[in-house]
Amino acid sequence: MFDNLSNKLDRAFKTLKGQGSITEINVATTIKEVRRALVDADVNYKVAKTVTDNIKEKALGRDVLIAVSPGQLMVKIMHEELTELMGGEKQDINLKGDPAIILISGLQGSGKTTFTGKLANYIKKQGRSVMVAACDVYRPAAINQLQVLAEQVGVEAYTELENKNPVQIALNAIEHAKKTHKKVVIIDTAGRLAVDEAMMKEIAEIKKAVNPTETLFVVDSMTGQDAVNTAKTFNERINFDGVVLTKLDGDSRGGAALSIRAVVEKPIKFISTGEKMEALDLFYPDRMAQRILGMGDVISLVERAQQAFDEDEAKRINKKIRKNQFNFDDFLTQLEQIKKMGDIKDLVGMIPGVGKALKDVEIDENAFKPIEAIIKSMTPEERENPDIISGSRRARIAKGSGTDVTQVNNLMKQFNDMRKMMRSMNKMAGKRGGLGNLA
Ligand code: GDP
Repeated sequence: MFDNLSNKLDRAFKTLKGQGSITEINVATTIKEVRRALVDADVNYKVAKTVTDNIKEKALGRDVLIAVSPGQLMVKIMHEELTELMGGEKQDINLKGDPAIILISGLQGSGKTTFTGKLANYIKKQGRSVMVAACDVYRPAAINQLQVLAEQVGVEAYTELENKNPVQIALNAIEHAKKTHKKVVIIDTAGRLAVDEAMMKEIAEIKKAVNPTETLFVVDSMTGQDAVNTAKTFNERINFDGVVLTKLDGDSRGGAALSIRAVVEKPIKFISTGEKMEALDLFYPDRMAQRILGMGDVISLVERAQQAFDEDEAKRINKKIRKNQFNFDDFLTQLEQIKKMGDIKDLVGMIPGVGKALKDVEIDENAFKPIEAIIKSMTPEERENPDIISGSRRARIAKGSGTDVTQVNNLMKQFNDMRKMMRSMNKMAGKRGGLGNLA
């Protein structure tokens, strides 16, 4: 599901790698690529533009935390935007009423009858008595199909083969449901191959007569923007309560899932992902956004980093790096913040690609301990000004921290290499005209 979009977004975010903070210049290409990826996925152009404008606004000027790359931060922002785009919170169907009446609408072939069976199955599993009613008076095969599905999931199907009045059948079905003490009635209606006046009139009449608790509009997600347009037309006419997206198992683009909410302003409530009666899921915008981005782990990594890292502290350290004043105290603070993010093995596992590669590699949870011990054995003056740490001081530090001189030398070398790198990054940033907001 959504493979193409996921891959393209992944590529778009990768172009941001290696930058210290998100600036107008380095974000422009990424934003353009994200917009193109969305449009290619058949997302409505206006929607794609709004999304990318919002992402840009949120991303610009954000200092990038030490633990995450700008690309990772962009993934997080994108996740928030996509979740919002698809409606934010999960929306349940309303099953209040005695019985609750659920009216199913949509074009022929969209998956209405299949969904009616699935929904009956879903409601039955919640322990409610449920009945389905066949109101397609034009296609006897549709009535038969519903009967078969009802039998499969073990619920009653109400049918009137001789009756050609769908409004009457629906009302009779509700009467029957009351008599047999059903808590929920699901009414499957007739669809046509394209939106037409006769179908709209019929469904509007049924709706008016039965006054449903919930009217759902079923749409084939593989039809992309057509799905969105059909939903818009139906909604203008029958004002439905929610959308059911079907055939998401076959939809690799995802445009309908992404734009329907923004265009129609009605929530997606269910997604159907196969022909089996169990292949029905409630629609969770945040989970869907995660699936589209294909980077659930990056999102939690950034969330954890945002929780663990103090923004003011990050700014303070940024400033010190810019002035070439980064010292062992700062290093220790950084280590402590990384440790706050949690189990190292967990964290490494969250980095896409790395997790799998390191599956069987032992990661030493205590790797930071000697480093901390060494830094803590330094005097405040030494930490502040590492250049004074001579050979005899190193021997003293090794002794005090329970390590040996080689370990101290290694740490000193790593620290000096790091400072050298920071210095050259500062120089480069200076040449670029002071963009150096290096985290
Ligand atoms: P209706 O005309 O709207 O009642 O549509 P149907 O329920 O008869 O579905 C039309 C076709 O789509 C049938 O062959 C179904 O098996 C198939 N179908 C329905 N839902 C899904 C789904 O979620 N995934 C897939 N792959 N096929 C589906």
